[in-house]
Amino acid sequence: MDVQLSPADEAFRGEIRAFLDASLTDGLRDAARKRTSLWQDIESSMAWQRILHAQGWAAPDWPVEYGGTGWSLVQRYIFAQECVRAEAPALIPMSLRMCGPMLIGYGTEAQKARYLPRILSGTDIWCQGYSEPSSGSDLASLQTRAEADGDDYIVNGTKIWTSYAQHANMMFALVRTKTEGKKQEGISFLLIDMTSPGITVRPIINIAGVHELNQVFFEDVRVPIANRVGQENDGWTVAKYLLEFERFSMGSVELRRNLGRIGKLAEKTAANGMRLMDDPDFKRQFKALEINATMLEASEQRVLANLSAGKPPGPVSSALNIQNAETLQAVDMLGVEALGYYANPYQPEALELGTNRPPVGPEDGISFVPMYLSNRMKSIAGGSSEIQRNIVAKAILRL
Ligand SMILES: Cc1cc2nc3c(=O)[nH]c(=O)nc-3n(C[C@H](O)[C@H](O)[C@H](O)COP(=O)(O)OP(=O)(O)OC[C@H]3O[C@@H](n4cnc5c(N)ncnc54)[C@H](O)[C@@H]3O)c2cc1C
Repeated sequence: MDVQLSPADEAFRGEIRAFLDASLTDGLRDAARKRTSLWQDIESSMAWQRILHAQGWAAPDWPVEYGGTGWSLVQRYIFAQECVRAEAPALIPMSLRMCGPMLIGYGTEAQKARYLPRILSGTDIWCQGYSEPSSGSDLASLQTRAEADGDDYIVNGTKIWTSYAQHANMMFALVRTKTEGKKQEGISFLLIDMTSPGITVRPIINIAGVHELNQVFFEDVRVPIANRVGQENDGWTVAKYLLEFERFSMGSVELRRNLGRIGKLAEKTAANGMRLMDDPDFKRQFKALEINATMLEASEQRVLANLSAGKPPGPVSSALNIQNAETLQAVDMLGVEALGYYANPYQPEALELGTNRPPVGPEDGISFVPMYLSNRMKSIAGGSSEIQRNIVAKAILRL
């Protein structure tokens, strides 16, 4: 695959840069710099999504007929790189990267017509209701029940680790509609309005002190049968399809951003009279991680080529997910090392948007420790690395 930039692609890069320079306010850039996990704060993320939507660029990976851009894969890569370079806020993945592609693949015409435009505009914010207290890796053992009653299902049970449920007005969820037979064959896929009576959202505070996760309880919640995606008891097929999109991200772009920040800090830091970057061990680790990011980039471009051809990412998304998680966590560790003593102070107030309190230690490194803590989730969320290895063994290596 040729990924050399043509003059047309270079011109495209210029167009993107001009748009980003004109559209990104100082407040949005500040929010992006202070992002401490996969999830951007909701206000900045949605504000940025609305700007992109007005430009027609909220979902570059979607087919054009549903609101995609029609860009080539090189152009989409350029766009992602430039957004990170310009410090654009991150978009919330559950709506644009997970629910949207799933509906495009499996939704009815009515579901696509209703939900896809609302996802693009940010009118609906989605969360993912897969995991339950006793069903994470063994997801198919889930027990939240949905029983048909006239035109509705009545849903009872609980979901856990539901990211951003406190902001979402919609949830895509897996529910049990049959208890006999193989457990995968008794699951259905529902679109649930989070404002329905009987839903309670309780916060879970993470290791970095941030509220991103929740437990969601359902007590006799009515969900129209028309909100089922796919056939009754065939939700597992839809769930697996969506997971391929969840597990694939352009992780190398984020890796390069984090490495760039660490590199800048290491160029400046004087330890024992020398810059950290001149320390042979630090430099070796830094360069090894740069090589990992380059390898990941090449693999991601292969998956993007699949997406361009209208195919889902496939099981290779699991292999990339492992490589991405391991490299990201090693990069975070190096960031903490680069901070040295300045990794110690706990200073959440310095991360507040618009604060005038100067951080203790270098400004560039203010998000390194919370990022290090939050990104432990990279090898758990969306399926742990052990589960991803099982998928690689079965679906790719045929073991
Ligand atoms: C930050 C974060 C955000 C999340 N957001 C969401 C969300 O929005 N929606 C949602 O539905 N879920 C979400 N999750 C849940 C996530 O999908 C689960 O945590 C994950 O699937 C693991 O399940 P578990 O936590 O129940 O761990 P368990 O399944 O109990 O696993 C515990 C350990 O045992 C290992 N293990 C289990 N089975 C096997 C096996 N067969 N072979 C080898 N090792 C095994 C696992 O790898 C893990 O190390 C989120 C999780 C995190 C951490």
